[in-house]
Amino acid sequence: MGTDGREWTGAVTERLRCCICGEDTTGADDYVLLRITAAPTEAKQFLGVHASHLNEVLAEGFAVDIHHS
Ligand SMILES: [Zn+2]
Repeated sequence: MGTDGREWTGAVTERLRCCICGEDTTGADDYVLLRITAAPTEAKQFLGVHASHLNEVLAEGFAVDIHHS
């Protein structure tokens, strides 16, 4: 959370719905933002997701940790 009290939204201006469960992520303390690129183009896509849900679908050996600064 930033110093102005607003929730962290990363590179986009507002929180995105979780791309796995489809729920609103407002207030979620494990929210993460994914950036997907399509090389060699400049195309990019942002996806919001609960880290707990992301971990359920990641391949074995991959894990997402949340670090609050
Ligand atoms: Zn979710």
